Order: sequence, then C-alpha cells, then structure tokens
Amino acid sequence: MTITSAIYPGSFDPITYGHIDIVRRAKKLFPRLLIAIVANPNKSTLFTIEERMKITEAALAEVGLDGIQVISYAGLLVNCAKEHGVSAIVRGLRANSDFDYEFQMALTNRDLAPQFESVFFMTAGTYSFLSSSIVKEVCSYGGDVSAFVPESVKKALEEKLAEKRAERSSAGE
Ligand code: ADP
Repeated sequence: MTITSAIYPGSFDPITYGHIDIVRRAKKLFPRLLIAIVANPNKSTLFTIEERMKITEAALAEVGLDGIQVISYAGLLVNCAKEHGVSAIVRGLRANSDFDYEFQMALTNRDLAPQFESVFFMTAGTYSFLSSSIVKEVCSYGGDVSAFVPESVKKALEEKLAEKRAERSSAGE
C-alpha cells in the first residue's frame, strides 16, 4: 500500500518557519496533509485553539502553501488520525532533546494503532534552534521576530502580548 496522506500534530502556539519548513517538505511526500492542532486543557498556551487555527491558516496562505487542512483535536492523536482517514503521522526533529520524547510517542502510537507510520523530518539547519517558546520570549521582550515567523503571525503575537500586558497592568501586577 502506498501512503499518500498524513497528519502533522502539534501545539502550534504559534506556527513558526520551523513548522512551515516541515510542512513544505512533508507535502512533497504526502499530497494530502492535515495540520492537527491539539486542544489540550492541561497545557497552557498563549493562544486559544481557535486563534491557533486562524493564525496557522493565515500563515500558510501568506507563504503560499495551499491545500492543507487545519483541524483541531483533543484526546488521542491516533483516534484523530483514524477519523480523518490518514495513514502517517509527521513530526519534526530538532536537536537530541526532541528525540527521546518523539521516540516514546512514536512507540506508544504504534502500540495503540500499528496501522499508522510515524515519519520524521530533520530540521533545516537554519531552524534547528527555533521553537514557539523562543519566539514568544523574544517577542515579549520587544525583539523582532520577523526572521522566525511570517508577518501575520508576528502581528498576532504583538497584539496578544500587548493585550496580556494591559490585563496585567489593570490587575495592578
Ligand atoms: P508539541 O507541543 O507537540 O511539541 P510543537 O508545535 O512545539 O508541538 O511542535 C510540533 C512538531 O513540530 C514537533 O514534532 C516538533 O519537534 C516540530 N518542530 C517544531 N519546531 C521545529 C523546528 N524549528 N524544526 C523542525 N521541527 C520543528
């Protein structure tokens, strides 16, 4: 059986050029590619699930990547993969630090649902240090994140962080 469809799951809080690079390359192997954004109430995110979906869609449009469906999911990824009829799970690998966690997740997913292949894309050197957390941190200190995220994401980040600052100052923090 040839695998032609895949799901790329993650928090995407927010999407960065590192994620986009993986999407671009995964799209070459999997004509049908879905980005699945996790709505995990136990993990605190800067953006809500609805915002992350909107930001991701806008970023893909901005960089000219079309035909990629953006969905949200809660619970087990393999259930979401089953529901959407895909056959592979795409993840990106940066440094060694990603490996242990990704290895554990891939083996767990295989135990749960052996029909799905996990496929890993090695980061591009330029993005090996790039994470959503770093981007949020740089932006929160007023740094320019243009090299890390598309313009629409940068704008959303600046607005959100300004909103948070206003909330904090009105709460007298
Ligand atoms: P999660 O919270 O599930 O790790 P992320 O949104 O942080 O979600 O990342 C989703 C996937 O994208 C993960 O497999 C992660 O390793 C990968 N990824 C994130 N940033 C990069 C990058 N700069 N280069 C390559 N892969 C990346």
